[in-house]
Amino acid sequence: MKIVFYDTKPYDKESFEKCLKTYSDITIEFEEADLNERTAVLAKGADAVCAFVNSNLGTEVIDRLHEEGVGCILLRCAGFNNVDLNRAKEYDMEVLRVPGYSPEAVAEHAMTLALGVNRHLHKSYIRVRENNFSLGGLTGINFYKKTAGIIGTGKIGAAMCRICRGFGMEVIAYDMYPNKDLDFVTYMSLDEVLSRSDLLSLHCPLTKETYHLINKDTIAKMKDNVILINTSRGALVATNDLIQGIRDRKFFGVGLDVYEEEGSNVFENREDEVLEHSTTARLLSFPNVIVTSHQGFLTEEALQAISETTLKNAMDYVNGTIDNYNRV
Ligand code: NAD
Repeated sequence: MKIVFYDTKPYDKESFEKCLKTYSDITIEFEEADLNERTAVLAKGADAVCAFVNSNLGTEVIDRLHEEGVGCILLRCAGFNNVDLNRAKEYDMEVLRVPGYSPEAVAEHAMTLALGVNRHLHKSYIRVRENNFSLGGLTGINFYKKTAGIIGTGKIGAAMCRICRGFGMEVIAYDMYPNKDLDFVTYMSLDEVLSRSDLLSLHCPLTKETYHLINKDTIAKMKDNVILINTSRGALVATNDLIQGIRDRKFFGVGLDVYEEEGSNVFENREDEVLEHSTTARLLSFPNVIVTSHQGFLTEEALQAISETTLKNAMDYVNGTIDNYNRV
């Protein structure tokens, strides 16, 4: 089986090559370019393409992949909002993903962002490096005995609930399907979670229903001085409304691992460029906002699990033994 692997980064190549040793039937052609209408042609003659969160898997790209003979899309991530699933279905093209490689990796990053903005770590790090040992403006709050509101309690949200409980927080949550394993979590309506939480963390997928879930109306329902964390998908948050909320001093802090417009930035070094998107630049200008570049998944354990499941998906596709759980 031949796989064309798009948007290859050194850590991807390292973990996939290590795992490939146990799969003699698979060859991988690693491409630095990400998948789009122009680069789809690189997949000529391949059985499958391997793509990531910001790869373009829209209608035209799927048409091109079909023309090139590709029968399977291997997503090396959990989310699949970037795939035109209807088009893939028309061609009987399989779309397989890695639903839960390491939920703790993302949840731990969500808590990292929450602690970082709370204790102004981004500022204190720079200050001390400049021999400035003053503490003005660095006051945070205790998380102990505060309320954590988790929106979406699937695998990652559940891990975040457990972490928050470990901090001695009261944990409340909103999900249409309450997770029975989380007996320490109190489920409530979305409005109640918004209005009662000191720390709000988003862990639901991006769907038509959750697009701009955080907007000016939902922000108005939040407690003043709330900390908002988004490690899920950028478009869960209406960025302009968030910016207005930050200007209105609604937020104690905001931590974003994902944001709208991240597509052209994610995993790229653009340090010599002038960023053309003013909303991202505006977000970065606020002192109580920390933005990371979609790195929630980036732990050794998660990378290993991603490569193992992706290659198992590839073999299952060839052998006709696809695990429905991994099928989108
Ligand atoms: P999951 O499918 O296990 O859980 C998602 C949960 O969200 C489910 O319990 C579902 O019922 C709930 N949900 C769906 N619609 C909802 C709504 N409208 N309101 C409230 N809850 C709703 O998914 P997961 O593995 O926990 O991943 C969650 C998301 O995290 C993924 O969709 C992906 O976008 C994101 N993610 C980010 C990174 C990263 O590196 N930052 C890595 C992996 C996943």
